[in-house]
Amino acid sequence: MQCLKVTGNIVYILTVLIVQLTGFATSYSISRVQSDKPVIRFNADGTLKIVNFSDLHYGEAPHTDWGPAADVKSANVTKNILEMEHPDFVIFTGDLLTAEEMFPNATDYMAKLVAPLVDKNYRWASTYGNHDIGENMTRLELLAAEQKFEQSYTYQMNASLPGVTNYYLPIYPANTDEPVMIWWFFDSQGGRTDDGTTGKGQQPEHIDPAVVAWFKDEQTTLKKQWGQLPSLVFFHIPPVEFVSIQEHIENNPLCAGLMDDDVTPQDNNTGIMQALWEAGGVQAIFVGHNHGNSWCCFYEQIQVCYNRHTGYGGYGSWTRGGRVVPLQIDSLTEISSYIRQEDGQIVDKFPKTSPSNSPKMYQRNQFIKNATAIMLVSMIGERLFNYSRFSYMN
Ligand SMILES: [Zn+2]
Repeated sequence: MQCLKVTGNIVYILTVLIVQLTGFATSYSISRVQSDKPVIRFNADGTLKIVNFSDLHYGEAPHTDWGPAADVKSANVTKNILEMEHPDFVIFTGDLLTAEEMFPNATDYMAKLVAPLVDKNYRWASTYGNHDIGENMTRLELLAAEQKFEQSYTYQMNASLPGVTNYYLPIYPANTDEPVMIWWFFDSQGGRTDDGTTGKGQQPEHIDPAVVAWFKDEQTTLKKQWGQLPSLVFFHIPPVEFVSIQEHIENNPLCAGLMDDDVTPQDNNTGIMQALWEAGGVQAIFVGHNHGNSWCCFYEQIQVCYNRHTGYGGYGSWTRGGRVVPLQIDSLTEISSYIRQEDGQIVDKFPKTSPSNSPKMYQRNQFIKNATAIMLVSMIGERLFNYSRFSYMN
């Protein structure tokens, strides 16, 4: 009997230890994200407003007059939209820079890019695009430049994964320490580098299959601990599914927004959309890359949205703006969003609150204007012409 009792006590003590240790391990796994900064919380009134800025393309054509002037205009767009919206958090969905011609001075451009946010103490997180890399600059250098700012929540969660900005952020209520939402960030890669640290030459333009597998693992772990949490997903290059969505968009009364550009999707279907759908809980996906699109539609029940071209770098002259996502803690499965343009107008609301026309492919006026601009520039000089080709990439 005595022996059984002692064994029982040991089993009890071991069980308590295991529960505490595993409890510690799992809570560590989710809180490590925030280990050096305050967690992101909903406001006391249950709101949390995100503004997405996409395709700012800072540092384009640095040796021209119009390149640096474009950066000044981009800074005004972000400053003005922040003043109009007062978001709780900002997300940059790729192509923060046009890094192709940059020597390693990501620090300077990053400082310019975030100055309107730092001035007013806004916090942000980023996912990088195909232009955030150059022959002389890597994504890791950009990350290092960004992480100098304490307001940045961007990080590399797993250094063995292709791409850099693969991570998630748990979002908490105002007063309790159980997350109610997860924001996922994936690196859709692309661009060209000759730096040995991230591989040489052209990078694939897709979310790597290893990232998809990592997402599934992490999501399963999170689900075990916290249940099925609603989540939002951010990356730069649209997945291949966007092509067929846009092909049928004019007959889909649920879709809304600007459609004035081709979809140039990821170069492979690595299964990301299927994984997001099968995971459950994913409410909305936000991408950039095709500057003349800011439509939203549905993929199964997931909202799929283009943000709006925010910067004056990069091709196109569509009115600049950012996609605003006002969240309510008690309705996280009913996401809505809209574009706030720099001229103050609110457009491209989604989902629609009343029946209206589906997006229609515009006449390619923009393309014709752009082509004319290229011809004019080419007459001015070969050097300028080279820079202009830069700006006409995604
Ligand atoms: Zn772009």
